[in-house]
Amino acid sequence: SPKATAQIGVTGLAVMGSNLARNFARHGHTVAVHNRTYAKTTALVEEHGREGNFVPAESAEDFVAALEKPRRLIIMVKAGDPTDAVIDEFAPLLDEGDMIIDGGNAHFADTRRREKALREKGIHFVGTGISGGEEGALNGPAIMPGGSEESYKALGPLLESIAAKAEDGAPCCVHVGPDAAGHFVKMVHNGIEYADMQLIAEAYDLLRNVAGFTPARIAETFRGWNAGRLDSYLIEITAEVLAHTDAATGRPFVDVVADEAEQKGTGRWTVQTALDLGTPVSGIAEAVFARSVSGHRDLRAAARELPGPRREFLSADEAEAFAARVEEALYASKVVSYAQGWNMIAAASAEYGWDIDLGAMAAIWRGGCIIRAAFLDRIRSAFAADPALPTLLADKGFAEEVGRAQDAWRSVVTTAVAHGVPTPGFSAALAYYDALRAERLPAALTQGQRDFFGAHTYRRVDREGSFHTRWSGER
Ligand code: NAP
Repeated sequence: SPKATAQIGVTGLAVMGSNLARNFARHGHTVAVHNRTYAKTTALVEEHGREGNFVPAESAEDFVAALEKPRRLIIMVKAGDPTDAVIDEFAPLLDEGDMIIDGGNAHFADTRRREKALREKGIHFVGTGISGGEEGALNGPAIMPGGSEESYKALGPLLESIAAKAEDGAPCCVHVGPDAAGHFVKMVHNGIEYADMQLIAEAYDLLRNVAGFTPARIAETFRGWNAGRLDSYLIEITAEVLAHTDAATGRPFVDVVADEAEQKGTGRWTVQTALDLGTPVSGIAEAVFARSVSGHRDLRAAARELPGPRREFLSADEAEAFAARVEEALYASKVVSYAQGWNMIAAASAEYGWDIDLGAMAAIWRGGCIIRAAFLDRIRSAFAADPALPTLLADKGFAEEVGRAQDAWRSVVTTAVAHGVPTPGFSAALAYYDALRAERLPAALTQGQRDFFGAHTYRRVDREGSFHTRWSGER
């Protein structure tokens, strides 16, 4: 059996695992590599063996034996049952103090269960969010490890060495908190990504169907925005996609793609979890539902003949001014969806006792991941100025910006409604903003109704206690 020379091991050598293993090797670490189907292991070493030190292992026993102690073993297999199967295979071969790191997209509830079970055996289970897709895995992902403090001491430096680096050079990796904190924030990250994509899609739809811009012109508009406060990876690639011409037809690429958005499930998990935690993440929810609506071919076909408003495109002058207002609406809506996402992380941190540093999350998402953006540095500073900030909307800088944008924001939503262009993301974000700033909400009436039909009681504004009215219509 091989000598223990590897600082880290990766099992599961599909695209993510192979790229992660190569990233470790390129950074001078000796990497033990293993895969259920051995052919993938040998293929990796044949193709990329010269990039660094790989120790290919055919059996689970050889793989474990190749790892220095305390052993650090990364699982990059298909999330769900395969993860449990691989844990069951390796855990009996490990010693107390060893670490199993799950880098797959696990549901955080599974991670909580696995962490608890392995902790009882003295094994550290480190559920780790890894963001940035295959490109990130190879060249520097954002890394969100959960698990024990102790495991991070042995693991952190290795992970930080392969992580993306933010513009100030800081590695995009931090110990998020115990047990499932890492997978939880990765899930919310993906939810925020859904919301960002939906808001950008709405901006495109408005520029196309209200302003009458061509995709190429919208690409130019987005390039302009990318030079300002919306500077981000997603805006940048949106411009690329819109500028792309389909080779087969010569038409704009966006016009030859079927308009049905798919999803793998982390957005849905975010919304399901938000409902359980009681945290309103309407921006993410609308984004998930918008993808779902797009995929309902049957409903859309049945409703296609319903009447809508007849509107001309805006005049060239109006269109130019409208585009500037869309930028403001997009920015303000984005601030709201990040505020909601951070709120959800704060709620889970309190619920599970994770003690998550909210500013640090913004700091590590500045590089490597899909939502990377200059904007995240602002969020980091907002929490640096006030670690207990109840909502990003209360940060002085964001409050001023959103306040300045609100007239344009309202005007864009109004125009969208008048033209019959659906903007669930912009509208929901604006509704959330108005709900938070409202002096009185109609929730008082809701409480009255609940007391009427169900004697659910209500609290009063002028006295302590809980009250029930004897309603005359009550039965
Ligand atoms: P994948 O297609 O999700 O999984 C394939 C790998 O899982 C193969 O190595 C396969 O081994 C192994 N596997 C499947 N069932 C197994 C079982 N019962 N026992 C042992 N091994 C099993 O691969 P991927 O796309 O590289 O993704 C890996 C993980 O990263 C997943 O959890 C995925 O959700 C996550 N992911 C993250 C991102 C991101 O941006 N962060 C992107 C993509 C994926 P064989 O070769 O033997 O079939």
